[in-house]
Amino acid sequence: MATIASAGASQAVLDKINNAGLLRAKGLISGEWVSAEDGRTLPVYNPATGEFLTEVPLMGERETLSAIDSAHNAFKSWSKKTCSERSKLLRRWYELILEKKEEIAQLMTLEQGKPLKEALGEVSYGAGFIELFAEEAKRTYGDIIPSPYPDRRLLVVKQPVGVVGTITPWNFPLAMITRKVAPALAAGCTVVIKPAELTPLTALAAAELSIQAGIPPGVINVVMGDAPQIGAALLESTKVRKISFTGSTQVGKKLMAGAASTVKRLSLELGGNAPCIILDDADIEVAVKGALASKYRNSGQTCVCANRVLVQDGIYDKFAEAFIQAVSGLKVGNGLEEGVTQGPLINEAAVKKVEQHVEDALSKGAMLLAGGHRHRLGAAFYEPTVLGDATEEMLIMKEEVFGPVAPLIRFKTDEDAIRIANSTEAGLAAYLFSGSISRAWRVAEALEYGMVGWNEGVISTEVAPFGGVKQSGLGREGSKYGIDEYLEMKYICIGNMLP
Ligand code: NAP
Repeated sequence: MATIASAGASQAVLDKINNAGLLRAKGLISGEWVSAEDGRTLPVYNPATGEFLTEVPLMGERETLSAIDSAHNAFKSWSKKTCSERSKLLRRWYELILEKKEEIAQLMTLEQGKPLKEALGEVSYGAGFIELFAEEAKRTYGDIIPSPYPDRRLLVVKQPVGVVGTITPWNFPLAMITRKVAPALAAGCTVVIKPAELTPLTALAAAELSIQAGIPPGVINVVMGDAPQIGAALLESTKVRKISFTGSTQVGKKLMAGAASTVKRLSLELGGNAPCIILDDADIEVAVKGALASKYRNSGQTCVCANRVLVQDGIYDKFAEAFIQAVSGLKVGNGLEEGVTQGPLINEAAVKKVEQHVEDALSKGAMLLAGGHRHRLGAAFYEPTVLGDATEEMLIMKEEVFGPVAPLIRFKTDEDAIRIANSTEAGLAAYLFSGSISRAWRVAEALEYGMVGWNEGVISTEVAPFGGVKQSGLGREGSKYGIDEYLEMKYICIGNMLP
């Protein structure tokens, strides 16, 4: 738990959100806001101040089964709506989220800690998925296949998968949900959402606005609480046809094993270990800006954050100097305060993990170039940190640090960079900075990653396919491809067609 930095500071903001009707601290089943059947609750805290915000129901198997039944019943009518009816409702949901952008962003900063400016950015990004899939709802085209038989016609139609269970992490409390729920609803599926225990309030506010938008009861259900119980109920139910999960590779693997018993479809967006390669012909200013944006966004707590900054020998010293200078300009503080660029980490346990990685790197010969300790504001705050001369033996090179620490690694040739970059089981995002098109193209092609940023550190957008290879997951989210994850193909063969 964080130290209380400004006790009571959250209350005024919380009151404003409550007055706007967006503080919904219950589960949502069949359009009703409900408590846990046994009345148990879970507290939600502000990671910046340690303040108690509110409590939400601690739900488990029984509530999840009710939510599945609710989604299953709603599927019958939701899947029968025309694409334009679904599109209009999604569009209205998108508009309402944007109308309440300020309140949702403030709620997100309160429960997750990210600076308000980043939270506002996430609201736009998250709402963008709803806008995109409101449009894509009308484009789930099938196919007519040229028939090799004179008396038959062959068609493919696309149909919704059915009830979908979505399980999401705390680092993007809105966008990770809309990235799944918007394409699911657009396709005609209904959902049971299980938000992260640490950040349920943003999800509940978004669900409230879905009701106000006119999305019928049961199409969106929300349960939270005992994650293994909720996960098991979703996995074991034959009414749930798909699980879409974003979170750690460890939990993703458990879900993949669990999905086998009912042969469910799966989308998995798992952990990353992003390399950020600075070739010696890179524009230093562009490289520093890109590496900084990728590394320190959300205080280093994104799955696409640069985890390993690989810098070529010839440019290493210049880059390190400019990068340290840029890092010194980051402002740590409570995300609700003006000018803050680095909020707290999600909790003290996250800080302890960062400390362990930094200690390990220093004990193995890394140089401390900036930061390297907690921030005076409290136990959840860690100074933006830069480590020099990191090597492949260090823990920080093998695991996601998930915090504001950039290890710089020297390399000699492009081939060395590619080998180091690919020497991980993760394969989500990679970045490379170079002024040469042919060189950068060769490196980009050789990187075993689902996404590559070239002279750019912020690559996520709702219109591009997001996803990884290797152990970073299965499937793609967002873009025109994202809706296919929620559609089944049905082949129809029409016979007796001779005149
Ligand atoms: P996590 O521990 O895997 O949790 C993610 C979600 O899974 C939470 O809702 C959690 O519930 C739930 N969960 C935990 N154990 C479960 C179980 N046995 N059965 C069913 N659900 C279970 O991950 P996290 O710490 O929240 O998030 C950080 C991780 O997410 C990082 O590895 C990051 O790279 C990854 N991530 C990936 C992407 C991507 O698109 N690839 C995007 C964002 C984050 P509780 O919160 O209630 O425990």
